[in-house]
Amino acid sequence: MQKIVVLGAAESGVGAAVLAKDKGCDVFVSDFGSIAPQYKKVLEDENIAWEEGGHSMDRILAADMVVKSPGIAKETPVMRAVAEKNIPVVSEIEFAGFYTDAKMICITGSNGKTTTTLLTYHILRSAGLDVGLAGNVGKSLALQVARCPHKAYVIELSSFQLDNMYRFHADIAIILNITPDHLDRYDHKMENYVDAKFRILQNQTAKDAFIFWTGDPVVARKLESVNVNATVYPFAEKPAPGLAAFVDADGNLEVNTPQRSLCMPCKDLSLKGLHNLYNSMAAATAACLTGVPADVICRALADFGGVEHRLESVRTVDGVKYINDSKATNVNSTWYALQAMTTPVVLILGGKDKGNDYSEIMPLVKEKVNKIVAMGLHNEKIVDFFGGVVPVVSTDNLADAVAECRAAAKPGDTVLLSPCCASFDLFKSYEDRGRQFKDAVNNL
Ligand code: ADP
Repeated sequence: MQKIVVLGAAESGVGAAVLAKDKGCDVFVSDFGSIAPQYKKVLEDENIAWEEGGHSMDRILAADMVVKSPGIAKETPVMRAVAEKNIPVVSEIEFAGFYTDAKMICITGSNGKTTTTLLTYHILRSAGLDVGLAGNVGKSLALQVARCPHKAYVIELSSFQLDNMYRFHADIAIILNITPDHLDRYDHKMENYVDAKFRILQNQTAKDAFIFWTGDPVVARKLESVNVNATVYPFAEKPAPGLAAFVDADGNLEVNTPQRSLCMPCKDLSLKGLHNLYNSMAAATAACLTGVPADVICRALADFGGVEHRLESVRTVDGVKYINDSKATNVNSTWYALQAMTTPVVLILGGKDKGNDYSEIMPLVKEKVNKIVAMGLHNEKIVDFFGGVVPVVSTDNLADAVAECRAAAKPGDTVLLSPCCASFDLFKSYEDRGRQFKDAVNNL
């Protein structure tokens, strides 16, 4: 009987454990921290052996294969010991892939993964297809393969998941963009991070599709040195030879694939902003390749409800629009948020700074921002950097920040929470920050 050890008992790990058990493996689940009650219950109900608060190395090192949660770094003592014994380590997605022939539509990139994954899923569901949502969003792929299999899956893949994928094969692979992120997990080498993202293309053949944005310099450079076996479907905002998707001279989004083609006015897209145009192009190309009728794709691109905490409209109060973009935890994503603004802005910035270089957004701040409300425990950098350019006020809690915004904004303005920073100084997570912001705005 194959011995499977699952390291990390959250959504992906517990799903992998259930699938392994169903397939007749001897399964042991080990989590260094504590396991959430809902996952403990599944393990108990399924009669799967587990431990928390530490690792029993003798049991772990007896494994034939380890399924590792993406959150566990390869430098941890447990992973070093597993590597020393040459025990194969796979991600939950790889493991699930052993047991299904479903069509896999896989999305990676530094920014825009969740939005594009949910949008693609929305289009395919609108077409009535039997499709599951997995990866960083939705339910564990392994659990779905075990208990409610679908004919196709739309999967958000982080670089950490891709790190431990070897045989997995994406029928459709999307790389949205690559900008520096998580370099601490890649020996501080950008090339290692880029290589991890490009693993999404491994095992593809000419029958498969690779969708990418031609404007990304990192992706473009990498493509000069790798062999791509898949058929390529590049997209860009302007027409050019060979593009599968682009915006034509009349402002229409055009997509052309052998299966389907479509043309719709960009102004009808539900998601606004240049970054979301890219996300819409990627999703529409994937849907065309999947054979979804053009009218269904156009309708779904227009009626998509958006994603919480990503340029999410909250409410208009006294003629001022309030937008929650709490997921903008790096400078690049705030750049895209500001780029999408069509009115003067009062901008809430700040939080836990990950070594930000704010010069990237300076031109847009000069052009669009009337006032910055810094919200964090260490606002000095923001005050120093922007102080000479726009009025900056410093706050250390959300209620004060919203009150400052309300006082500063005039009818027709937009108050934008797009903080450029992680949330952990004042909040539990970016979701917590976004929800507290929405509550405060709804109570104005
Ligand atoms: P991810 O799942 O990759 O973190 P999300 O869809 O959650 O991406 O979006 C995170 C943030 O990144 C959003 O707040 C948005 O401002 C920005 N963003 C979304 N799509 C893109 C894109 N294609 N290019 C650059 N930034 C983007």
